[in-house]
Amino acid sequence: MQIDSRDRIVFAAGPFEAFIDRRQDDLRGEEVATLMVPEDRVLMGQCLKLVRRKGRASGEVVRLYRPRGAPLSMDFAGYTLDQQSFIALRLTSHRGYGARDGIPRDPQSGLLPPQAFSELASGKIKQSQETGQDFGVTVIDLPGLGGLCDRLPSPGALGLLRSVGASLRACAFDDNSATEIAQGRYGLVHDGAADLEALRHDLSEIVRQHDPDGEEGRVETSAIDLEGIDQIDEGDLAKGLIYAINQCQRADGAAISLRMLSTSIPQLVHQGINEVALFRRVVANRSFDIVLQPIVSLSTGDIHHYEALCRFDSSRPDLSPYRAITFAEETGLIHDFDLAMAEKVLGWLSGKPRNSDAYRVAVNISGFSIGVDSYVKGLLDLLRAEPWTKGKMLFEITESSKMTDLDSANSFIGSLRDSGYQVCLDDFGAGAASFQYLSALEVDVVKIDGSAVRNAMRGPKGLAFLSALTELCRRLGVTTIAEMIDTKESLDFVRSCGCDFVQGYLFGRPSADLKSFQPLPNLGLLRGSPDRLRGRAGLS
Ligand code: C2E
Ligand code: MG
Ligand code: MG
Repeated sequence: MQIDSRDRIVFAAGPFEAFIDRRQDDLRGEEVATLMVPEDRVLMGQCLKLVRRKGRASGEVVRLYRPRGAPLSMDFAGYTLDQQSFIALRLTSHRGYGARDGIPRDPQSGLLPPQAFSELASGKIKQSQETGQDFGVTVIDLPGLGGLCDRLPSPGALGLLRSVGASLRACAFDDNSATEIAQGRYGLVHDGAADLEALRHDLSEIVRQHDPDGEEGRVETSAIDLEGIDQIDEGDLAKGLIYAINQCQRADGAAISLRMLSTSIPQLVHQGINEVALFRRVVANRSFDIVLQPIVSLSTGDIHHYEALCRFDSSRPDLSPYRAITFAEETGLIHDFDLAMAEKVLGWLSGKPRNSDAYRVAVNISGFSIGVDSYVKGLLDLLRAEPWTKGKMLFEITESSKMTDLDSANSFIGSLRDSGYQVCLDDFGAGAASFQYLSALEVDVVKIDGSAVRNAMRGPKGLAFLSALTELCRRLGVTTIAEMIDTKESLDFVRSCGCDFVQGYLFGRPSADLKSFQPLPNLGLLRGSPDRLRGRAGLS
């Protein structure tokens, strides 16, 4: 299509009749945006603006309105030559932003998640430093965006976020240099000559078009001073950036002013880099501890095995490692740690009698680690070299949502099981996709997350749901463990739901000393007559 300076069609060619029930000749004089679904009209206007301003633009997906049938998603491309603008719309071959170029994007805005952004952005920052290219990093705030999204009906909110995303990406170095830091707050790596004033204007205009009567169009930008980062190596810079962005997300976004943020990001980057170095040292020196917590059979009251949990402060065995583990996952350090933990547990087991069943330990593996070849190889080599660990070590996969490739995760799980190690799916019920993982992955055990047990106890349907889950597992030949059992009520509840094993403070807090579980606290509670005791224990 050729379009004039007011976005009207001068000339159109293509199968419009088949697509939108319109003859191409009838389109002359019509505003291009009106051919789109209402939510994408602002986005289309934005695309055309960029075509004129930058000479060319592409990469957006817009949806053609059809009087009969569902909208058609089209790839947009356009260029301007000798003051004449031309655009092409082609049926898209990908479904939304999420599936593009193999890099996961936010499906609404098409922006990169902080981790991918940090890695790509730090590469670009380094590259531009080496080539002497002028670049900038800017944080952009749209303070009214969150409130406006809440007020708009969901297609309108989606259209708004897509238009905001399109403007940001158009101003960034390239498609991969913009991210959402928190709601209404974005990070951008851009060319030193980028026209940030035009971006501010566009964003303000986009918000205003979605909210003509409101006053939400305020846009603030703040350049980040990255002095000193030229000393930092690219990998560490990426990790530092991830850390900084995550800290900003964790803090109440609205509470940190933009000015504070732009001065604190470089500090946060440095702080992140220091924490990375510290964590690496802890892993290299194996300077962390293991505490153990028993997994108790509901049919016999016996301890089947212990879960090994790491601790980073030996004086505080109750201090959760959760923050450090999350940090290691976010910054790509977790696989080294998971391997170190497996080695440490193996070392602990090697000091115990080999002919006893009293020492079996489950080791946690983050879903992130499963995607790392060096981890998979490292663990399998380690186990191959110590075949006596068969049946003495089990593995729990935590953070399953971080597994990117379920087929390769399944083949890793298969290798462990074929070698004689049982595998458990941890945190079941904590995320939306639990059933998908249960169906896709061949595991021996499912560990029902403490939050799922608590939720089930709250409502009248909970008992039915949890009972159905244990029944499903039974049919699949999968054993169930209920986690965070810390009261008699929760114990009775999971028993009546048909769970096979329990773990929780009721039977001991995690401890470095197995004597804490001899005798097992509250064992008497298991002697009562449970509603549905089935007397089966699938763990070998
Ligand atoms: P998880 O694997 O689901 O571990 C169970 C958590 O529940 C542990 O928290 C445990 O101390 C806690 N817990 C046990 N019984 C109860 C109870 O009755 N009530 C309550 N409120 N909590 C209970 P912890 O030790 O803080 O670990 C938190 C998470 O950190 C673990 O969750 C796991 O995801 C991760 N983690 C711990 N050690 C490792 C490790 O070596 N490697 C990896 N990748 N992750 C680990
Ligand atoms: Mg676990
Ligand atoms: Mg768990």
